[in-house]
Amino acid sequence: MNKYLAAENRYENMNYRRCGNSGLLLPEISLGLWHNFGGVDSFETGRDILHYAFDHGITHFDLANNYGPPPGSAEENFGKIMAQDFKSYRDELIISSKAGYTMWPGPYGDWGSRKYLIASCDQSLQRMGLDYVDIFYSHRPDPNTPLEETMQALDYIVRSGRALYVGISSYRAEETSRAAKILAELGTPCLIHQPKYNLFDRWVEGGLTEVLRQEGIGMIPFSPLQQGLLTNKYLDNIPEDSRAAKKTGFLQRDQVNEENVGKVKTLKKIADKRGQSIAQLAVSWLLHHEVVTSVLVGVSKISQLKDNINAINNNSFTADELGEIDRIMA
Ligand code: NDP
Repeated sequence: MNKYLAAENRYENMNYRRCGNSGLLLPEISLGLWHNFGGVDSFETGRDILHYAFDHGITHFDLANNYGPPPGSAEENFGKIMAQDFKSYRDELIISSKAGYTMWPGPYGDWGSRKYLIASCDQSLQRMGLDYVDIFYSHRPDPNTPLEETMQALDYIVRSGRALYVGISSYRAEETSRAAKILAELGTPCLIHQPKYNLFDRWVEGGLTEVLRQEGIGMIPFSPLQQGLLTNKYLDNIPEDSRAAKKTGFLQRDQVNEENVGKVKTLKKIADKRGQSIAQLAVSWLLHHEVVTSVLVGVSKISQLKDNINAINNNSFTADELGEIDRIMA
């Protein structure tokens, strides 16, 4: 195995944004390991993508207990790469993990109890070979556990040295507001919210963005490309190596339908005029929102990451472009 040495100019072409009111800066593009880094995927490709990311200023890698498949394998693979390549760069990295979805059998391997969150955090640290994660998330709200208990577990995870910051994912506006208040009272502020947000799915605009602004919480949108739909990938068909075609992919074939692909084809005309790819347009559109700290992309190839990183160079939109985009996606 070749020894990895990070590119010396790695910080020259990335921009960093402050995460809410915190002291933490995040790169405008972050990399998620939900797909393409599991036990079913090529370890070498994943390793190459991670090297490329760090070499280009991507300091933030996002994981969760269940990423794979099989669940846990993305953290295990990341742990190997951490040990062999990134060990001496640990203080340059922001690594996150989460618990909230089904991870192990029985009543203590799912949702938002203190029992589950703390045990899961310990398992994630072990799989990744880390002493601490930078950000630990409650992966989804649990309607059957008091919010206070879930937030107290996050606070404890920080106080016990397992994480530096905490975040929440997919919490609605009202839940976010309550969670932020509980965390503030506990003395562990909510750093960041990770919602699904992209040109197809704009639910966050119905109240969440306002709460994040008021509370000084950063936002890191997941699935910014709607799992690949907001790219040139599906304009003609469903390619065999695409997420929609793979058995282990979460993008369903029926989401790649005529109506959605039709919208992407119309978007392409705006992207062409701006000199951008469709993926770049989708990422830039997110970055032009002030509340967005970082855009959390997934990639299966280095060429995709290169394309997405270039989006940071063209984040301003005219009112006409924004109006046209709204009309197309309505
Ligand atoms: P995207 O919407 O960015 O989709 C990624 C997929 O799009 C890639 O696998 C690839 O598909 C395709 N793609 C990416 N860039 C390009 C490009 N430039 N040109 C053509 N195709 C491209 O994000 P994900 O859905 O992967 O989510 C990103 C991250 O968000 C996850 O890894 C995870 O960290 C986080 N996440 C969090 C969730 C939560 O509940 N908090 C839920 C889901 C995700 P292909 O594989 O077909 O090549």
